[in-house]
Amino acid sequence: MKEPNSKFIKVKCNQCKNEQIIFGKISSNVNCLVCNSVLAEPTGGKSRIKAKVLEVLV
Ligand SMILES: [Zn+2]
Repeated sequence: MKEPNSKFIKVKCNQCKNEQIIFGKISSNVNCLVCNSVLAEPTGGKSRIKAKVLEVLV
């Protein structure tokens, strides 16, 4: 999967289908606001998105 490097990414939670906008670069895990599952985790300055990417916002 391509690693997005834009500022904001709109993702959809795999567990509860919640749509959430997260930062392209994160320094700690980002959790779903609804079900608290991990949406993205930091990997050496980039984010690894674990949810479904809907849209990349530039
Ligand atoms: Zn969720």
